[in-house]
Amino acid sequence: MKAAAFNYARAASVSDALELLQAHGERAKVLAGGQSLMPAMNLRLISPELVVDISELAELRGIAVSGDVLRIGALTRHVDLARSPEIFRHAALLGEAVTHVAHPAIRNRGTLGGSLAQGDPASELPACMLALRATIVVRGRAGERRIEAEDFFTGIYQTALGAEELLIAVELPLASKGSVHFFQEFARRHGDYAITGLAAQAVVETGSFADLRLAFFAVGDRPLLAKAAAKLTGVAVTEAVLADACSTLSDELDPHDDQQATASMRRHLANVLLKRCVAALMDHPDFAPERPA
Ligand code: FAD
Repeated sequence: MKAAAFNYARAASVSDALELLQAHGERAKVLAGGQSLMPAMNLRLISPELVVDISELAELRGIAVSGDVLRIGALTRHVDLARSPEIFRHAALLGEAVTHVAHPAIRNRGTLGGSLAQGDPASELPACMLALRATIVVRGRAGERRIEAEDFFTGIYQTALGAEELLIAVELPLASKGSVHFFQEFARRHGDYAITGLAAQAVVETGSFADLRLAFFAVGDRPLLAKAAAKLTGVAVTEAVLADACSTLSDELDPHDDQQATASMRRHLANVLLKRCVAALMDHPDFAPERPA
């Protein structure tokens, strides 16, 4: 199938793009890497009257430390995240997670901003934003808004982004001492969308987690920052503590049935991931420094 006829405009600047979006509202769609937009148009799931191509806007690209945050431009491609020394240093979770997104050809074109704006609950990068305490920077004709990642994803393919706004960048706090991460997903093949996944970021100190953020994905209509993390924070993690955290997690998950897995299978897999995550993070030398190498 081919897309329905549409008009095309290549934006010359961010303000040019915003003018076009304001003039056309819901009838326009932004084109970044095109890896989600074009398949959806070709399947005629959406048929915008105007496609606003922002892919040439250099001002939306790049990864840089600015003060106490790591700022990543919306047009930064998946492949750039995987290769960046700044990501490796300050947001290693993101660098690892992005290698699970699709395949090289798609990672060469797909962008961070596109993945977040798409709001797919089975996507890896939105969950990383929750785990990493990201702030999403969006801009409209009236100015900029800064939205906490937890408030950005509002439902299946739904976000807090308005039709006349552009996602400009993402800001992440720099990694602090003792920062560790965990990423795993269950998928039919490497590169497929996850059946269930977990992106976790923690700060460890001797014998406990000073901070723990567990962001599950493909377990509901949006990525979920699990309250179960509170059960594991600031305490000695015994088997009983872990069992209590697993039970809290099961209660707070509201997974769906689909052709890939039942809700109960997803709940089970999320618990498996939680146990693997805790075991892996507790194995970190900063968690148990007295252990012989
Ligand atoms: P586009 O396709 O250009 O845009 C996606 C949506 O976001 C559109 O609605 C567009 O209007 C909007 N948009 C884009 N940029 C902005 C912006 N700056 N401001 C406002 N709105 C914007 N993704 C995964 O997470 N995990 C996977 O395993 C995975 N597997 C895939 C497998 C295949 C075969 C394919 C084709 C895609 C897969 N994807 C997967 C999707 C891929 O990661 C996309 O690149 C990504 O979801 C969208 O990025 P994009 O730059 O291509 O955005």
